[in-house]
Amino acid sequence: MYDVAIIGAGAGGITSAIYLSRAGLSVALIEKGAYGGQILNTDVIQNYTGFPVVFSHKLAEDMEEQAKRQENVDHIFGNVRSVTNHPDKLVLNLGKETIEAKKLIIATGVNHKKIGVPGEQLFDGHGVSYCTVCDGAFFKDQDVIVVGGGDSAVESALYLENIAKSVKVIHRRDKLRAEQITQNNLFDAENIDVIWDTTVEEILGENKVDGVTLRNKKGETTTLDTNGVFVNIGMLPASDTFKELNILDDNGFIITDEGMETANPNIFGVGDIRSNSIMQISNAAGDGSMAADTIIKQFNEER
Ligand code: NAP
Repeated sequence: MYDVAIIGAGAGGITSAIYLSRAGLSVALIEKGAYGGQILNTDVIQNYTGFPVVFSHKLAEDMEEQAKRQENVDHIFGNVRSVTNHPDKLVLNLGKETIEAKKLIIATGVNHKKIGVPGEQLFDGHGVSYCTVCDGAFFKDQDVIVVGGGDSAVESALYLENIAKSVKVIHRRDKLRAEQITQNNLFDAENIDVIWDTTVEEILGENKVDGVTLRNKKGETTTLDTNGVFVNIGMLPASDTFKELNILDDNGFIITDEGMETANPNIFGVGDIRSNSIMQISNAAGDGSMAADTIIKQFNEER
């Protein structure tokens, strides 16, 4: 039995693993994909203290290397299908194996929200993308749109600026939600325009995307030719597996106290999946160290 199981190897989960391991606790760090979490969906990071400009993939690689250097951490590749709560342990079912731990840190983060319009699912991977850094290069010298008005959408448009021929940001309001500094860069870009007060009603095409139907606030619809639709309209918590544990808010995010402890004293939530998280790397890392600190103190009290 591990002292602590951590689900998710993004900034939050990895930070917890480092602190717990350094305190001599045994850790199972479980990840079903690549290390780094949401960091992998962005290109360059410029707001993480101590790293004025860092390529996100480099940061993710360094985080992974640091996690893998820790002595008491087992790195387990797998998908946790269910978690059963017992008075003295948690049992994680990964299909082929089960893992038992005294404490659990959930750091599974968020998934991309979908627009939910006709054509979106049909053309997913054929012109519709939720990861600009992964797919942007396929749209060299083409016309693309980005849907959304938050940091992800604006960063996405700026990433596409030097790849695509033209970028149109389709935003449902007349104000962006993104950080002011990135908004300024967006407005300065020559091949990026914002179409305000407008939503995407349908994604059109034969075998791949060739246009979208747009509707503005006045109810007028138009068709816009485009080769790519980058959807960046926010995030949904990756928490389906944890519904039965009674630790989620109405939107599916994990409710914790300041020590990252949930209503169950053996379960903790860190990073983007936490209720009211502002979804920054710095917060995820802070949550990770805080959860570890709470757990280390709990173990020390029991000794
Ligand atoms: P977000 O901040 O929630 O923004 C979502 C955007 O999509 C909003 O502009 C919203 O419009 C729009 N939207 C939501 N549902 C929509 C729908 N059904 N149809 C059309 N538009 C819709 O999400 P995000 O940009 O993914 O960012 C998530 C979090 O990560 C934020 O806290 C953000 O600050 C953070 N983040 C930070 C960075 C960074 O610091 N560099 C980078 C990426 C993300 P309204 O404005 O009208 O609500």
